[in-house]
Amino acid sequence: MKSYVFPGDIDPAIMAIGAEPIPYMRTQAFSDINLESERILLDLIGCKGGRTIIYTGSGTGAMSAVVENYVTTRRKALVIDGGSFGHRWWDLCRYYGVEQIHYEVPFARDIDYTDLEKTVAEGRPDVFLCQHHETSSGQLFDLGKISAICRRYGVSLVVDVISSFLAEPLDMDALGIDIAITSTQKGLNIPPGLSVLFFSERLKDYPFAHKGYYWDFEENFSNLRRGQTPFSPATTLYLQLHARLKQLEAEGGPGKNIAEVHRRCGVFRGLCRQYGWDVPAEVPSFAITGFQTRDMDRKVFRGLLEQYETSIMPGSVPGFYRVSHMGLQSDEDLRLLAGRIHQLESAL
Ligand SMILES: *Cc1c(COP(=O)(O)O)cnc(C)c1O
Repeated sequence: MKSYVFPGDIDPAIMAIGAEPIPYMRTQAFSDINLESERILLDLIGCKGGRTIIYTGSGTGAMSAVVENYVTTRRKALVIDGGSFGHRWWDLCRYYGVEQIHYEVPFARDIDYTDLEKTVAEGRPDVFLCQHHETSSGQLFDLGKISAICRRYGVSLVVDVISSFLAEPLDMDALGIDIAITSTQKGLNIPPGLSVLFFSERLKDYPFAHKGYYWDFEENFSNLRRGQTPFSPATTLYLQLHARLKQLEAEGGPGKNIAEVHRRCGVFRGLCRQYGWDVPAEVPSFAITGFQTRDMDRKVFRGLLEQYETSIMPGSVPGFYRVSHMGLQSDEDLRLLAGRIHQLESAL
């Protein structure tokens, strides 16, 4: 079984933790693990003096938490909707009755930043919601430009970095991001089930709202101060997260992992050129490769699964597939994968 979806193939040492007995979590040992995880997470994203909340729940849970606890305290949001994940910000704001400017960006296109600035100047939002990497197309947005616009107009910046954390260089303080979100099944490359919120030091005394019981920020912060969670944590996942973070710390930070993701991506993009698959993203991320084939009825997807026990991700557009580079994969794996996709496509 080879996986090019999220999280992809995982280090066997991390997987082995999942087979171990589950320790009791209301202990100092478990608290120490979580406090250390928080410290490493803040280092990895460049968030000095900040805080984290680690939730048992997927990335969308953390997005929902941000809207409930933070976005509802603001006057007006601007939402970048460049694909299904941006659309989710829009949907969440709609769900909670937040006034918003819906800024749509066509599939796989970059933002027109001049037009965006005009929209901000005219619409005067006070909170900005976007993705760093719109995973549905593979398009990477320019956080440097977004951050500069937010600074000029005094807009609070919230970024879903779920699929760019540890795949793209990212410095939260340098970009002036107030809240960033990631989850475990993407760049962290461990099983799905946890999400992480990063809070800049600026929000230390912020009066958050209380609009959702399970995700309530203050309740989570008050427990996390001693390394605990208000409700039963997915204990094994917290241990796997900690072990993965210790690996990244031992590597000296995120640089080595990002370079490795970049390298795999380079190998696969070369194969896309060789087989004539277009990569439509205007500015493609390193995290995944989204590419266009001639396969209009998912025959390649089914063929890979049935003949080779291999998964790739179909996209929203017919013939468009996505291969993640965040799981373990060798150059040889990628050559074999591309060769099989080509062979299945040629047989159509
Ligand atoms: C995966 C992903 C999410 C969250 O999805 P979940 O299935 O809830 O973990 C959100 N945003 C982006 C950009 C993603 O890639």
